[in-house]
Amino acid sequence: MPVPPAGTALAGGTNGPRALRPLLDTVLDALTTGAEDRAGPLPPGGPETVARTVRDACHPLLPDHGSGPVAALRTLVHTLAAGAADPADPHCAAHLHCPPLALAAAADLAAAALNPSLDSWDQAPAASTLEALTSRALAALVYPQATDPDALITTGGTESNQLALLLAREATAPDGTATDPHRPARPLQIVCGANAHHSIHRAAWLLGLPEPLTLPTPDGILTADTVHSCLANLAGRTGPVLLTATAGTTDSGAIDPLPALADVAEQHGARFHIDAAYGGTLLFSDTHRTALHGLARAHTVALDLHKLGWQPVAAGLLAVPGPATLAPLAHQADYLNADDDTDAGLPDLLSRSLRTTRRPDILKIAVTLKALGRHGLGELVDRTLAAAQTLADLIEAHPRYELHSRPTLSTVLFRPTGADHTTLATIRRTLLTDGQAVLGRATTPTGLWLKATLLNPHTQPGDLSTLLKLVEGHTPR
Ligand SMILES: *Cc1c(COP(=O)(O)O)cnc(C)c1O
Repeated sequence: MPVPPAGTALAGGTNGPRALRPLLDTVLDALTTGAEDRAGPLPPGGPETVARTVRDACHPLLPDHGSGPVAALRTLVHTLAAGAADPADPHCAAHLHCPPLALAAAADLAAAALNPSLDSWDQAPAASTLEALTSRALAALVYPQATDPDALITTGGTESNQLALLLAREATAPDGTATDPHRPARPLQIVCGANAHHSIHRAAWLLGLPEPLTLPTPDGILTADTVHSCLANLAGRTGPVLLTATAGTTDSGAIDPLPALADVAEQHGARFHIDAAYGGTLLFSDTHRTALHGLARAHTVALDLHKLGWQPVAAGLLAVPGPATLAPLAHQADYLNADDDTDAGLPDLLSRSLRTTRRPDILKIAVTLKALGRHGLGELVDRTLAAAQTLADLIEAHPRYELHSRPTLSTVLFRPTGADHTTLATIRRTLLTDGQAVLGRATTPTGLWLKATLLNPHTQPGDLSTLLKLVEGHTPR
């Protein structure tokens, strides 16, 4: 084959790696210089400054004649790196935004180069097998007693929650199948805590379900008593009920009392979903997995490996105890999963997602599981949770700070003692504008708090005391 003009070489085939290698050198150099230029967890100056830098670097974004691959990669990768909020910096700790493992990022490059699409076997022969094996291995961690556990690969907790609500809606429809044209006379009623992720509410809206009944969680967790009174009250007055619990709330990392909630759901004949997007990977840890006791009693469990699993976005799962749970997703398009193809042994992939074209997010996950093993991942979980305990200790020992509560996972809520809403919000934004630290915020019944969501397993105690000093430096006396 003739050598294609610069920039149009393909990533695949035996020549792909040869085309990629020099480009990768450019990319890696630009990542380095970008991070050096930034010299902190995020670019200083705030939104307008960053936007101006990006505009200037990109202009013109669609030139008549291109600048060629090396210049374009160098400019844009450098600009993005220099302007990144980098979760690999221990002071970048606002959100469930994890620093990805280098090995997972490397695997993702291979995924991009090969570009299998998980909507039919003839686009992803090996990738579809890897996906089946890996998702089942992870589902078996969630449902150790089940004979045939399975998991769908999703873009994250939002999509997993949506699918969980959809599967619940279809499973509780009058004849229990997705093909029934009659919706139940009384639709599925979601019951959740005020601590539930916002995506539960959006999913209910999207699926045409009534607004979820949202129960108070004054202590950050949904209690069995509260749910029991609610379900007893609802008896006979609504359609079927789906109770959703959270294992690792977004605001504070709290874990709802899963076994007690499973009992209440069972007692009232309610379906049960657990959103373990944040806390689910405690399953890897021998030390912390007991915190998830009761997980296996849910009909569906959401987990995200792009949080406490150190994967580049996206790496979500929805685990189920058996394939029957997934039956409502059965869907056919002749060109992707014709009956005769399926009968001939081509796996039906279309019925495993609401998406059609789908990235092989499984490759980076599988590489990580194999490289680190359960113990290796468990140790990262342990170290990250230990860092949160250390930060809580430092705050408790500090005369000018108050701690909201001891952390359950890796989220620590704290504030300078007595600081009001405006002061806290200003501290947070000033740190962002200075590019010194990225902290989140959470509102609880006791007001606004600064939130440190620690996801960097290599964070040292010294990083945490510096973080507190940075906050202190912006606190008015
Ligand atoms: C992060 C999170 C979600 C949303 O997940 P995405 O991956 O952002 O879609 C849902 N629920 C909980 C508890 C979460 O922490």
